[in-house]
Amino acid sequence: MTDYWVRTMTEDGTVRALAAITTTAVEKARRRHGTAPTATAALGRTLTAAGLIGAMLKSGQTVTVRILGDGPLGGVLATGDAAGSVRGYVANPGVHLPLTPSRKLDVGGAVGRGTLHVTMDLGMRYPYHGSVPLVSGEIGEDLAAYFVRSQQIPSLVALGVLVSPDERVIASGGLIVQLMPGADNHTAAYLEERAKVLPTITSMVSAGRSPEEILDTALGEVRTRVVARQVVRFACRCSRRRVEGVLVSLGERELREIVQEQGQVEVRCNFCGRRYLLDEADVHALIERWGKREPGTGNGER
Ligand SMILES: [Zn+2]
Repeated sequence: MTDYWVRTMTEDGTVRALAAITTTAVEKARRRHGTAPTATAALGRTLTAAGLIGAMLKSGQTVTVRILGDGPLGGVLATGDAAGSVRGYVANPGVHLPLTPSRKLDVGGAVGRGTLHVTMDLGMRYPYHGSVPLVSGEIGEDLAAYFVRSQQIPSLVALGVLVSPDERVIASGGLIVQLMPGADNHTAAYLEERAKVLPTITSMVSAGRSPEEILDTALGEVRTRVVARQVVRFACRCSRRRVEGVLVSLGERELREIVQEQGQVEVRCNFCGRRYLLDEADVHALIERWGKREPGTGNGER
């Protein structure tokens, strides 16, 4: 199934629900970063979280989700937007811990104790930032705590990544159900009861359920209508031009030194793992082009 998310709402606007399948995107992230299973699960859940928050945004807005814990992973970061692009990385991709007693990947143990940060660039002067202490480091629970404490929106969040014995991602997805202002107690109690018997996200995704079907299972008699659907892709904004811009900002002397010592310059994009290689001739051409530019023109990129 193609990765996509769906955003739905009840007719009266008191319940908002989103679900996403992210299997292909998370598998691509795993290959790009060479993550071991526990790191794959942590990165996949964070990418899915960023994708689902991205699904709440308007075109041009972006969200960055950062999980900063004291565990061996050493931090996970993912960004998402309304166009369905997600990207991200984990500080220590090689982390794999023994399974938990219930035979699950120990994401909480790998993340440790710390803080969840959510930063939304809504196109205003300053980005909107909120953070909460991690509840369990399992990321789904932590994101739910963020919605409750930082946005005052009671939320059910479920995120899951299933990794096969050969370390490939075979199922990944997520679900967010939120009680918006005006939701009545009966609906709240009903959704809470349903959440208790909800199958795991990975079991539903593995069984081939679509985001719409996952929402039906979570919502039961609460009827919502689809507001938007979007294909999800692991995609980065990096390019050779941007890399050249970063290199230019190092300064000519520094650049010449690197190329003299190493014979080439290699730049690896943190977000997507792509490698950019500039040999000596490339670097000299870059310095040449750069030298001809008027001072202060900049390259206009962030
Ligand atoms: Zn990149």
